[in-house]
Amino acid sequence: MRIAIGQLWQETNTFNRNPTRWADFENWGVATGRDIAAKYGETGEIGGFLKETRTWAPDAEIVGLARFVCWPWGAVEAGTWQRIQTLFIEQLKAAGKVDAVFLALPGAMAAEGDDDVTGALLELVRREVGPDVPIVGSLDLHGVITKRMLRSADVLAGYHACPHLDSAETGGRASKGLRRILQDGVKPVTRWRKLPMFTAAESHNTFTGLPAPLYRTLEAWEREPDVLSAGLYMAMPWYDAADLGWTITLTTTSADAKWDRKIDELAEECWKLREPMDTLERFAPADVVEKALSHGGHPVVIGDGADATNSGSPGDGTTLLAEFLKRDRIPHGALTFLVDPESVAAAAAAGEGGAFDAPLGGRYAPEYSQPVRFRGKVEKLLDVKFILDGHISRNLPVHMGRGAVVRSGDVTVLLVEKNGPGSTPKLYEAAGLDPRQFGIVVAKSPAGFRADYQSFAAGMLLADCPGCASPNWPRMRFDKVQRPLFPLDRLARPEEAAWSRRVERVER
Ligand SMILES: [Zn+2]
Repeated sequence: MRIAIGQLWQETNTFNRNPTRWADFENWGVATGRDIAAKYGETGEIGGFLKETRTWAPDAEIVGLARFVCWPWGAVEAGTWQRIQTLFIEQLKAAGKVDAVFLALPGAMAAEGDDDVTGALLELVRREVGPDVPIVGSLDLHGVITKRMLRSADVLAGYHACPHLDSAETGGRASKGLRRILQDGVKPVTRWRKLPMFTAAESHNTFTGLPAPLYRTLEAWEREPDVLSAGLYMAMPWYDAADLGWTITLTTTSADAKWDRKIDELAEECWKLREPMDTLERFAPADVVEKALSHGGHPVVIGDGADATNSGSPGDGTTLLAEFLKRDRIPHGALTFLVDPESVAAAAAAGEGGAFDAPLGGRYAPEYSQPVRFRGKVEKLLDVKFILDGHISRNLPVHMGRGAVVRSGDVTVLLVEKNGPGSTPKLYEAAGLDPRQFGIVVAKSPAGFRADYQSFAAGMLLADCPGCASPNWPRMRFDKVQRPLFPLDRLARPEEAAWSRRVERVER
């Protein structure tokens, strides 16, 4: 048996106007052929898929197509997207006949000229392998699901956890679905229902948050013998595209109408949560710093969701930094980071121990924050590398380029050349900074940071700053979404939106 595998993973923030380029993918390691399993065979979804597949098809030959991974950022530049498609087509032709395809996908990835890269890739692969070869895939639960995706795949498995601690298990669930198709000969039937709502990522916690019971329902469904995959996609909210909205999906082995009713019941439960989930306790920049200072314990971690690199914001927002610099004293100091290649270069020119006097940040999204003058000292120059193991992926090599630690009084800033995980203390630890020792630590993440900081944080707070990933919806300009759509519009019932009236079946 020959199984082709590939990955195309980036979550796009369409409010970040800076395009994702080929070099950005190269920074995360473009791989083709045997290199995919050799280098990333134990990473995230691919790792989980291969591990599960070995249990039921130990002799399967794994044929690598292509692997493109890049941290969330702006839409993929058109030429780069064209190159990616060409490479996938070449690899599929070179692979020859395969018995199945597995793709690790994001679900909310846009390119210039195509708001649904995930669906486009699935369609392209379907065209190449023909109608009879099973295609299975994994998706982020922030997927903005389209008919094109569902029509082109046999089974798509979405994360059930936010923070995303189940990337490997999700790959494993896609493999289980594939086993049922290849070994038991089942024919998948996929249903879906869209809901005219999206909600702030800050409230997406599936362990302790409001949506937790919804995901327990999905897990119960998946224990039924006729269910291959159940998904609830809360959608990447900073994604101005026609299909923005929550989506329930269900792939079964039968056409039993009871599943349509169960989807409608779950849709009701989702709908009830729209307003509670959009009600967040966030604090204005000056207030959040004041609250952290008066907490009594340390470190207090401030989640700056609006500048979340995990949500595709540039990570160079200066709102909280400016607040820190206004204070005469911050006990144990404040620690933050900025994606700012120009400042890294300025620090490198000053040298370790050298004086540093330059504007920091505020360059990628000047509509939200401006550069802040920073006078201090270069404490350290380094290459920022670590392995991400927690929210978003497992065993994922991360490289954020060259870095510099600069300090001004009680304020320490880690400057990095490239974007990457803003949710993990490992970022600071990679620069020799221990977040446990600081009074205030900034995580550029709306929710996922809680999983990675909870073991030692004295407190966790959410800031209300401007930025490309702000849940302050009236400030964000949505042009392409279908209306009416909560929270941009007030709706009493989901059926008021024509595209949400009923459960649909996917015809292939
Ligand atoms: Zn996600």
